[in-house]
Amino acid sequence: MSSDLSIYRNIGIFAHVDAGKTTTTERILSLTGKIHKIGEVHDGESTTDFMEQEAERGITIQSAATTCFWPGADNQFEPHRFNIIDTPGHVDFTVEVYRSLKVLDGGIGVFCGSGGVEPQSETNWRYANDSEVARVIYVNKLDRMGADFYRVVDQIKTVLGAKPLVMVLPIGEEADFTGVVDLLTRKAWVWGENSEKDPLDYTVQDVPADMADKVEEYRTELIETALEQDDDLMEAYLEGNEPVIEDIKKCIRKGAIAIDFFPTYCGSSFKNKGVQNVLDAVIDYLPNPTEVKPQPEVDPEGNETGNSCVVTEDGPLRMLAFKVMEDKFGALTFMRVYSGKVEKGMTVLNATTGKTERIGRLVEMHADEKKEIQSAKAGDIFAIVGLKGTQTGHTLCDKDNVAILEPMVFPDPVISLAVAPKDKVNAEKLAIAIGKMIAEDPSFYVETDQDSGETILKGMGELHLDIKVDILKRTYGVEVEVGAPQVAYRESITKRLEDSYTHKKQSGGSGQFAKIDYIIEPLEPGEEESGFVFESKVVGGNVPKEFWPAVEKGFKTSMVNGVLAGYPCLDFKVTLVDGAFHAVDSSAVAYEIAAKAAYRASMPKAGAQILEPIMKLDIFTPEDNIGDVIGDMNRRRGMIEEQMTTPTGIRVKAKAPLSEMFGYIGDLRTMTSGRGQFSMEFDHYAPCPRNVADEIIKKAEEEKAARHK
Ligand code: GDP
Repeated sequence: MSSDLSIYRNIGIFAHVDAGKTTTTERILSLTGKIHKIGEVHDGESTTDFMEQEAERGITIQSAATTCFWPGADNQFEPHRFNIIDTPGHVDFTVEVYRSLKVLDGGIGVFCGSGGVEPQSETNWRYANDSEVARVIYVNKLDRMGADFYRVVDQIKTVLGAKPLVMVLPIGEEADFTGVVDLLTRKAWVWGENSEKDPLDYTVQDVPADMADKVEEYRTELIETALEQDDDLMEAYLEGNEPVIEDIKKCIRKGAIAIDFFPTYCGSSFKNKGVQNVLDAVIDYLPNPTEVKPQPEVDPEGNETGNSCVVTEDGPLRMLAFKVMEDKFGALTFMRVYSGKVEKGMTVLNATTGKTERIGRLVEMHADEKKEIQSAKAGDIFAIVGLKGTQTGHTLCDKDNVAILEPMVFPDPVISLAVAPKDKVNAEKLAIAIGKMIAEDPSFYVETDQDSGETILKGMGELHLDIKVDILKRTYGVEVEVGAPQVAYRESITKRLEDSYTHKKQSGGSGQFAKIDYIIEPLEPGEEESGFVFESKVVGGNVPKEFWPAVEKGFKTSMVNGVLAGYPCLDFKVTLVDGAFHAVDSSAVAYEIAAKAAYRASMPKAGAQILEPIMKLDIFTPEDNIGDVIGDMNRRRGMIEEQMTTPTGIRVKAKAPLSEMFGYIGDLRTMTSGRGQFSMEFDHYAPCPRNVADEIIKKAEEEKAARHK
């Protein structure tokens, strides 16, 4: 088999929960001959849903990377290597979407033929647009009642603002859906009664007579759209020359890779119909690793160096860790190689940490089955067993030719949950489990509350932390008590303030003296990533230079505790302008103490305020319940931004504070007799209204009092 990169397709499957991503992946794996047993999602046996929690909830949480080979439905290609990187549909797991988008080159967007373009399809679609990922579209479940390919194609245009390029037309509808007409070849692919068990139960026939006109109409549109990619072919076509299919395909490939349009197919993955055509399209129209924008390289501070990593086997080794999973054999680190070659037994450099790593076993994943390999090279996606210090986003490279690939960025956590182990044995189990869980999920953070000693889990949303607790209890068998979810508030200031503080303790023995004059002022949110800037403008030595770092440290260590309710205080700048020192009694410690006290004294005067996370919501409701949904949103301090009528109901786009959104899914289901859906993601931090802030402060004071009792 050729090792040419042109036969590689690193793809993700994007879908809204329930559109059929798991089933489609299963069918692809069965078709490509890698699995012989077709698992059913309901039985919890499907191959990519290998975690218990996932199978039970019917949603895909963990990204698995799976390798398979496809020679074309007619064996018309040299077998192409597909690395399928799983992406979750649920927006609480955006982190999984971010990391997979980073390492894939193209995708299959799966939509439900009856549900159509649902809120979460849009979120993932937008992320894929931002990352400029070329996609083919598969409209699934055409066998279902209410399925309508043409309606979904329209929604893709209106809701996603995307240009679908219709490549096939469905034959029959709902229960009578039997197959597809390939517009380019004018051939009908018709599947038999047994297709559910045997995907090869199909025949290629002539177009049904009653579809001939429609096929010509769509075929003309397809050809005209495709030829816009090539002026010469277009000119010849307009002069009456029918282009050859291979030329049209080249045009489609060009337009698809440039994301001018999305080749669009349909079928029923459950019934094994139409999947072959999509797999052929992956080869025909999605980019190989050399056809996508090269990965930028960054310096140790994370700034782009202007260099990028050209995908080639002949270059120096560069590979990016995109997922760490713990299983019974230890850590399994998923890697994408961008350049060079890696072999078993090699020693490489982790450019992110500066430490070397020895490459032990290399494995290729087929869901939860591992196949041992000896080496991997540019374009490959595989996993390394037993790496010690490599985390998601780290670059492993050649020791003698160092570079850092741009890592993926993960959003900050907005919600937290306190957990308390039942006893000492469980406390030890908790510590071990948490170490592994943090390594696996870069959007999951764990802290110990300084005052209470409680373990605080932090994450992206209610469901995210729910699942973490579930994993703690079931995968790791830790007995814990779980507190109520808490919003990750922040504090900031609104006013510029000039102030001064003197720390003096000069009675008897060796004394302490430090005086600082400073300005505290607000920064734009996000202006400085760390949320804090320190500068000294002291001239003439009133505060000797050697003590400046101590002043900075005093403020910096204080900012984790806001003065109002103890939440981290961000987005401010401290400028040291003047001060005084004492030749004997001044010391770094004295200045640090002065800065800490200055922080406590000045922040309340600088207009301290509490900020809350505001979430972006995309809600779907049947038309009958729209009044209730909107009324309820108003009670939650939500702001309605847009309402759109869709064929199946109304979509409402809104923003609302996270603190008002706990348990929303249950309330929405109650209001809509179970038909409502929503997705939610973090949008920005905004100041809390006065009454809400007062409540938060009161609660913080009560908690503090309770702890000190
Ligand atoms: P995911 O959440 O996107 O991974 O969706 P699943 O693959 O788990 O599918 C959701 C549900 O739709 C399951 O009950 C599947 O059996 C069902 N399903 C998937 N594909 C089809 C299809 O082509 N036709 C029908 N009728 N049902 C399907």
